[in-house]
Order: sequence, then C-alpha cells, then structure tokens
Amino acid sequence: MRSRFGPRIAVTDPDDIAPWLTDWRGRYHGRAPAILAPASTGEVQAIVAAARHGGVALVPQGGNTSMVGGATPPADGSALILSLRRMNRVRAIDPVANLAVADAGVILADLHAAADAVGRRFPLTLGARGSATIGGLASTNAGGTQVLRWGTMRGLVAGVEAVLPDGSLHDGLVALKKDNRGYDLNQLLIGAEGTLGVITAATLRLAPAIAARAVAWAGVASPHAALRLLRLIEADSDAIESFEILPDETLALVLGHIPDTRAPLTGPHAWHVLIEAVAGDFDREPPAMLLERLLARALAEGVIEDATLAASEAQAEAFWRIRHSISESARAQGPQTQHDISVPVDRMPDFLTLDARAIEAALPGTSASGFGHLGDGNVHFHVRAPADSDPARWYAEQAPLVTRVVHDHVVVAGGSISAEHGIGQMKLAELERLGPPARLAALRAIKAAFDPANLFNPGKLVRPEPVTDLCGNG
Ligand code: FAD
Repeated sequence: MRSRFGPRIAVTDPDDIAPWLTDWRGRYHGRAPAILAPASTGEVQAIVAAARHGGVALVPQGGNTSMVGGATPPADGSALILSLRRMNRVRAIDPVANLAVADAGVILADLHAAADAVGRRFPLTLGARGSATIGGLASTNAGGTQVLRWGTMRGLVAGVEAVLPDGSLHDGLVALKKDNRGYDLNQLLIGAEGTLGVITAATLRLAPAIAARAVAWAGVASPHAALRLLRLIEADSDAIESFEILPDETLALVLGHIPDTRAPLTGPHAWHVLIEAVAGDFDREPPAMLLERLLARALAEGVIEDATLAASEAQAEAFWRIRHSISESARAQGPQTQHDISVPVDRMPDFLTLDARAIEAALPGTSASGFGHLGDGNVHFHVRAPADSDPARWYAEQAPLVTRVVHDHVVVAGGSISAEHGIGQMKLAELERLGPPARLAALRAIKAAFDPANLFNPGKLVRPEPVTDLCGNG
C-alpha cells in the first residue's frame, strides 16, 4: 500500500496505533499490527481488494466513540484497522436543495460548521460531536437530541457511497426521492456497523438554521403525566425538537455533584421534563410564545404541576447542562449498569414505574431508574448496585444478570435492547439470546451474502452461523 499510495496510508508505529485500540469507555482492548488510512475512495477500494486477496479482516473506524466496542479490533491482532479519518472533506453543500455530500471521515462538528456557514444546519447532535464521524454515525444509525423531529441517521442520510466486501463500489450518493429498484442498499449499510462494507461518503439532508429557540422545564407527578404533556404539545405543533424526562432523584443527584447547578423549579416534583422548541423562520409563532401557551393549557388541565420558561440563552443552557450532566453525576453513585433501551412511547411510562419496581424486586437491594428521550421511547436505564457492594465483584458477578433481567423486561414490553448505540461486541450475545429467530436468520443471511469470508468487522453485530432458510429450515 505504501509503495502505491505513499507513507501516510499505513500507520505501523505502536505508539501511534495504541490510542485506537481501546474503546471510548475503556472496556475493550484490541490489537492490530497497523492502521490503514486511505485518503480517497479509490484507495479504500485498493485496500479492500488486497485484504480480500490476503484473507485479512478489516475493522472500519471513524472517531472511535462507539459505546458498544464496535470499532475496537479483536484482541488476537488478526485484523487491521481501516481508519476513514483522512477522508474528511465536505465534497459539496447545496443550501437550495438542502443537501450536503461529505466524506465518511468528516467530523460531525465540522459538518455543523459547514452547514452553518451557508445558513443551514444538520439537525443531529450528540455528546461526541467533536470526534464522531459521518461514516460512524451512519454505520451506527445514530440518533441524538433531535430525533423527535428529525429522526435518526436513517432519515437524515439521503445517499451512500460505499466499498462492498467484494471490492465493488456502491455509488448511491444521488438523492432520489423515489427509487423502487428493490432492496435499499443505502439503508442496509446504515446501521450495519461496518459489517457489510465501508461507507466512504454520504449525502445528508440539511434543515433551515434556527432563527429562535425556547427551552422550558416542567414538573409533573409521573411519567404518565409527562406523556400526556407530550401528546398535548404534539397535537398542536411540530416545532418540538426535544422532550426529555428525568426523575426527581436524578435531578437531586446532578444538583449534589455538579457545581453551579440549580433546580429550575422551586417546588418538589416527582418527575421533570425538559422541552425545546425551535423555529426556522419568523413567520411562525415564536417558540417561546408557543411553549408558554401550551404549558399554560397543560397547567389549567392539571397535566403538569408547574413550569418555567428559560428567560435567556444562558438559562436555557443551564437547563440543558443539568440534562447533559446526568451521566457524570451518576458515576459518583458507585457501581451500576447502564442500558440504552427503547420501548413503544406509550409503553414507556409503565416501564419507568412498574417495570423499574419489578426489576428492583428481582434484584434485591438494587435501585432502578431511567431518564432521557421520552418522545423517542428511548431512555438510559440505570440499575445501581446495593449499597456497600464491592465494585469489581459486583461488575463481574452481578452486572451480567442485571442486564439480562432488564433486557427481558424490554423484550416483554415490545422494545429493543439497543435504541441508539448499536450492538457492537457488547450486546452481541444478548442479541443472539433475545433476537427473534427470523430476525437473526435474516441478519446472518445478509451478512453471508455480502461478506462470505467474514472479513468486515468480525465479532460485531452478527456472527456467522450455518445459514438456514428464513423459515428456520436447515
Ligand atoms: P466509530 O466509533 O469509529 O465506529 C462505530 C461503528 O461504525 C463501528 O462498528 C465501526 O466499525 C463502524 N464504522 C465507522 N466508520 C465506518 C465507515 N466509514 N464505514 C463503515 N463502518 C464504519 N449515539 C447516539 O445515537 N445518540 C447519542 O446521543 C449519543 N451520544 C453519545 C455521547 C458520547 C459522549 C459518546 C462517546 C457517544 C455517543 N453516542 C451516541 C454513540 C454514537 O453512536 C457514536 O459516537 C457515533 O455514532 C460513532 O461515530 P464514530 O465516527 O466515532 O464511529
């Protein structure tokens, strides 16, 4: 590769490779003799052809911010990392068509800046925006805090360019509004976690820049009341971008551990809701007036107990800071398992109350609670270890059981054991345990059809098995 494409295409110094061998959370450690870092789609094709010829596995990697060990190479050193970070050009941006074409290695924050510069925005953001790349976001079908209005990457990606495991190029960048030529390869590659090929570029939908936003905080008696509030707002307006829920104990935790945070409301409330509304132009009802009107109605109808509207941008940021500090403050509570789960939105209030209590009963001494994107039916569900638990022992002996109990409840509720973060290596065994047989068989058949030699991100998302037909017949 070096003789063909120059020295930068291969990184072999162990010190330069080391930072990319461990996942973001520090749970998984891999080995790789080299990182291959192509600068163009043509170079990716050459690498894939050579890897196929030599039977060498490749682990596509973007910002390495995966929450499920998805971009960490195997521990036996049998794979090479294929880093897309040098492919970091926004190829085109069209504010009239509201589309951008970006290389896979473009960092999300850089795409935000490029869209901003032409009076548009890419309406997906998340905590890792300074590192996560377009290829990684597409490959994990990432969500974020605006899914309620704009959907996940599946809705925001209008086209995909990818090198498939046989070395061929899938050129699906053209954004067609209608295309009924059978299976949608773009959508197969989105959320495939690098197991079906390497995404080299994507066409992305842009939205009008935000002209105004309003952020409100409401106190409610229960998640059921929070859901009533959501439905009341949704029946009136499509301007809501975020609708986040947290229990009072979680707010107390943040206030207790994060300096300079204050409760937005004075009275005690069992649950809290953070709402953001935005407007892209000034023709519509300003978002502050919209929220004020709807929250007043919710108060009059007894849906909420109290509410306040952020009076300034600084106060809006202070409300969001509480939400973004939850994970940090939760760490101060000692050992716990964290679950990225979803259930149907209408089922979520019961999950946060009845199922949480049932999980605690099944795991004596633990306490369970969830917070997050109620509007998406997706919460981060934490189960804390009994007081005085030895962390190392609890993680080794109890945490897997806790995860199984939580996932069992999710499945009974009709939900998903991975709402946002994907399967990676972390949830592979649980997917195999719980995935409906028809779904698992289809995943394996698709993997075998695209990548029969299992060279693309082996050990993540789906493991090959003897292929049976989709009815389960051997
Ligand atoms: P990597 O971590 O490098 O890779 C992720 C997966 O994609 C791996 O399986 C990898 O093999 C594959 N991959 C990477 N690039 C390519 C490519 N070009 N072609 C094919 N496969 C590829 N997720 C949410 O959905 N919502 C959130 O709110 C959210 N918040 C987060 C906050 C923090 C602080 C962090 C660290 C993560 C968060 N995430 C969230 C996880 C998020 O999904 C990932 O961070 C992101 O999508 C991965 O991008 P990446 O470039 O880092 O990919």
